[in-house]
Amino acid sequence: MKKSAKHKFFTKKLLDWFEKNDRPLPWKGEKNPYYIWLSEIILQQTRVEQGLPYFERFKATFPTVHDLANAPSDKVMKLWEGLGYYSRARNLHFTAKFISSELKGVFPNTHAAILDLKGVGPYTAAAIASFAFGLPHAVVDGNVFRVLSRIFGIETPIDTTIGKKEFNQLADILLEKKQPGVYNQAIMDFGATQCVPANPNCGVCPMQKKCTASEKNLINVLPIKSKKIKKRDRFFNYLVCRRADIVILNKRTQKDIWLNLYDFPLVETQKLLDEEELRQNEVFQKIVGNTSFTIKKVSKPFKQLLTHQKIVANFWEIELKSALLTNDSHFFEVKQKNINNFAFPKIVDLYFKDKSLYLELF
Ligand code: SF4
Repeated sequence: MKKSAKHKFFTKKLLDWFEKNDRPLPWKGEKNPYYIWLSEIILQQTRVEQGLPYFERFKATFPTVHDLANAPSDKVMKLWEGLGYYSRARNLHFTAKFISSELKGVFPNTHAAILDLKGVGPYTAAAIASFAFGLPHAVVDGNVFRVLSRIFGIETPIDTTIGKKEFNQLADILLEKKQPGVYNQAIMDFGATQCVPANPNCGVCPMQKKCTASEKNLINVLPIKSKKIKKRDRFFNYLVCRRADIVILNKRTQKDIWLNLYDFPLVETQKLLDEEELRQNEVFQKIVGNTSFTIKKVSKPFKQLLTHQKIVANFWEIELKSALLTNDSHFFEVKQKNINNFAFPKIVDLYFKDKSLYLELF
């Protein structure tokens, strides 16, 4: 399809806007594909402000792809702790090993080969290809869906095959092929700072004259999604078992959320249990077995929202008189002073950070 007058208007205004509003970020202008890849994986599902210190820490700890590849998995997970979506960290490590050993440390330089890397989807591949190698591939993510649907008044749901195709085609037409990296950075920044999800400041927007959403009062309607994600409620009764200065941890190795992170022995139920219900629970009985114990107290409920799940957890503080005799190989003993060496999901960190409990327990 040929570029229409509105297409040309959009691309020009966007690049003009970027010239005046370029945000200085440590990965901007970077040409080392390893650092670009690192920043793009960190920024998937993460705001720039939150991702920035993680990027700096990863770069300082693992200056080359070989350093990352040779690091123990626990070290990578610990550095990632608090950023969420932990499959990103696992894929990052996997891909670093692949590049380090199979590709002798040389980052792939074609769009197809970049897209083949584990943990790299179309958006990240387009970003790396355009920033590192100047290849003409347009990024399309939530920000881009929002900007394009509003300006061009597109009502096709963005979570359908037909919608994705339509937006991808439009993004390709709009891309400034002579400087794809600059264009991609511009549209990302425009979506992140100007055409934001709620209350965009249309009064100062250079696109307003030709923006369909602004003209037709559709800003709160666009972009359209066909279905809302329904969240599954899960209830975790965590057993914080300790004996003198020893705490029992659990390594999460099952195919479930938080793979390779650490938490406590867990009793998952249909609702949070009271003490009597906990004592009667079969899983609980299996965990404590014949060990003599005292339940000291229970925390308030903590909550964590994931994309498809809502987790509600409370933490039972249990004093053991002797070692747990359970044969669950994922449980192991740790000295309280070493607990910081492990990476925990956010909900466990919230429990640790709850000051009164923290002081009392650890
Ligand atoms: S006018 Fe408003 S809705 Fe339209 S692109 Fe600009 S900020 Fe977004």
